[in-house]
Parts: sequence; C-alpha cells; structure tokens
Amino acid sequence: MKASDVVPLHLADVTYPDGHPLAGEDGPVLGFAIRHPDGVVLVDTGIGEGNAWIDEHYRPRRRDVREALRASGLAPESVATIVNTHLHFDHCGQNRAFAGVPIVVQRAERELARREGQPFVEWLEFPGARYELVEGDREVAPGVSVLATPGHTAGHQSVVVRTDDGLMLIVGQAAQDARVFATGEADQSVKRLRALEAERIHFSHDRAVLRRRAPVARA
Ligand SMILES: [Zn+2]
Repeated sequence: MKASDVVPLHLADVTYPDGHPLAGEDGPVLGFAIRHPDGVVLVDTGIGEGNAWIDEHYRPRRRDVREALRASGLAPESVATIVNTHLHFDHCGQNRAFAGVPIVVQRAERELARREGQPFVEWLEFPGARYELVEGDREVAPGVSVLATPGHTAGHQSVVVRTDDGLMLIVGQAAQDARVFATGEADQSVKRLRALEAERIHFSHDRAVLRRRAPVARA
C-alpha cells in the first residue's frame, strides 16, 4: 500500500448546535477508505437519515457513503471490514449500508452506547449488523491496526496503516483537529499517537493532513 491508499471521504458537513464547544460553526465529517489488497477497510460511515433530533440540531448536509466510495473509484461491494472510531452519530450513521460486513468496535464503546441508549439506535442495530468487539489494539487486516485511544469516548479507537510510504495515522476524534493534535494539551491517547511519528495524520473533523516534520498541508 501507498500513502494514496488512505482515501479521505467527505461524508457530511454539520453546523454545531448551541451548547457545543463549536456552537454556530460549520465542520466537516470525514470517513476514510483504506484501499487494501484484501478489500477496502472503511473507517467510519458518516451520518444516517431520518433522525429528526439530529437533523434539527446539527443540520447535516450528508453524502451517501456508497456514492462517496464510487466517486473515489471504489466499489461499495469491495468493503471487507468497517472500523468505527467510536459510536457517535456522525461516525457510524451509515453502518447499515453494509449488512454482513464485520464492524470492528471497542467493547467499551459498544457497552457505553448500549448504556446511554443512543437516539439513533436504528443506525446501529439493523438486520445483518455484525459487530466484532475488540479490547485494546488489534490488527484488522495485514498492515492495518486499531489502537485504543480512549478520551473523547471511553472506547474510542484510532487506525494506523503501514505503507511503503511510511506509517499513516487516522486519529479519528482523539483530537478535534490538526492544530489541537499538533500543539494542544495532550491526554495519554494523543501523546501515544504523537509518539508514533506517523508520516501523514488524518482527522475526522478536519480536512487538513499533517505531515511529519512539515507544516500543515491543506487537503
Ligand atoms: Zn465526531
């Protein structure tokens, strides 16, 4: 795999509601397709449809994840594995487009979602939903691993991809954006991710891609 085999997918834009730290601001929602020889590993699936509360509070301008894949030259049928960094609505909302495909989630995250009783439970529970619960780090395809990075949620996980161009890191939402990751106060998870010294660093809510020992490059 190459650096270009980690493909960002722009899955939505939202407007953050009152009470949110980013209230009033618009922000992107990204997923990532990892073009792997054994099939695509899809990291996060964006926002689903038909939830009045989310529509009202976040005003999502959403994109169908299958269309986003096709637009990047990837067949939705080629998705072999899904990883949800965590189970907030903007990361798992279109899981149901992939019935039968294993969905890798931290056990702590799944239990948290169950306890909290998500208002979008129908986006998580659907015929053919196949959750594979992991605890801690796990290789999910040769060269592709999830790393437990709790903080944003109890069971948050990030993804690393070993490529010929070096290590690619998908932070997810362990840090809100590139600036926070690079210069903000770091919890244990961010410290751990920084220590990887990945070649390129991607985020769920920032289209910027950090490069090692180089200034921030806008995607
Ligand atoms: Zn999010």
